[in-house]
Amino acid sequence: MAEGKTGNGAAAGAMARAVIAGERRALAQAITLIESTRIDDRGKAEKLVEALLPQSGKSIRLGISGSPGVGKSTFIEAFGLHLLNHGHKLAVLAVDPSSPLSGGSILGDKTRMEELARDERAFIRPSPSGGTLGGVARRTREAMLACEAAGFDVVIIETVGVGQSEIAVADMVDMFMLLLSPGGGDDLQGIKRGIVEIADTIVVTKRDGEFFNAASQMAADYRGALAFLRPPTEGWTVPVLTCSAAKRTGMEQIWSTVQKHHVTVETSGALARKRAAQNEAWLWSEVREGLIERFRDHADVAATLDQTEAAVKSGALAPTAAARKLLDRFAKS
Ligand code: GDP
Repeated sequence: MAEGKTGNGAAAGAMARAVIAGERRALAQAITLIESTRIDDRGKAEKLVEALLPQSGKSIRLGISGSPGVGKSTFIEAFGLHLLNHGHKLAVLAVDPSSPLSGGSILGDKTRMEELARDERAFIRPSPSGGTLGGVARRTREAMLACEAAGFDVVIIETVGVGQSEIAVADMVDMFMLLLSPGGGDDLQGIKRGIVEIADTIVVTKRDGEFFNAASQMAADYRGALAFLRPPTEGWTVPVLTCSAAKRTGMEQIWSTVQKHHVTVETSGALARKRAAQNEAWLWSEVREGLIERFRDHADVAATLDQTEAAVKSGALAPTAAARKLLDRFAKS
């Protein structure tokens, strides 16, 4: 059968039904389709997401970030197993900012969260590779919707604390958690980088053994520093918690804090407002990405693009005038 629009719709519908029925293989295939960068997969992926959308939105969306080596995967494994033991189904997705830059991966290469990965009640998906951060973020957002439709009631989106990826992740979750650990060179540096400002919760991990006192001190320092910052969500005071992922302590308190935050923002209406604003921002980022793609592919623009870029680089042409000329060419036909 020719893969026309009708074929796409029927295939996407069947895949959506299997995802909603909770078939793991279908969910994995759905995410592969969502992540596909092939132009001819895009239509089918759109149909799929459209069919999944009514079943999505019911999870607690939690973003977790921290520097490399802070203990993210050890924490997510311990925290995730705690959630499973409390009857939840957990999906873990990653946004890895290194992939578009180097083609490598900070999060994806090593075997991580082995115990969690073996458990039927958890679904772990490494970061899609390649493309811009915007592209990776879009695919992660859609993968999150698919996980929700498949019945996962907690979705963790993990990212490394470098570059812009925290902002991208904070823009797609309900609650953003910053992970810190003693000895990681993170002492109050997060404040400077502006990441602490977007955190709804701070967790100092590795509070065990030789790090025990340093972790307690670090938490106290952050509590003091936070007193001078405005919390990202009105009506929510940002707590600084401690845990040991290795010894699996502190998980109960962290989970009850996440639940408390969820109830607070749901009751106040802040959650609905946040998700609406996120959807609106997502729409505009799609429009931006789409426009730039079409702009670059536009025959009239493409014909002079190299020349214009060279002229701007050499200083022969002012960037503002150059941009206007290109945009005029784009708009004309
Ligand atoms: P990630 O790069 O942020 O994912 O960090 P990992 O989870 O891979 O952990 C980095 C290192 O810290 C590893 O050697 C872990 O064994 C260690 N680590 C992680 N969590 C803890 C903890 O709670 N206590 C201690 N003492 N070490 C930990």
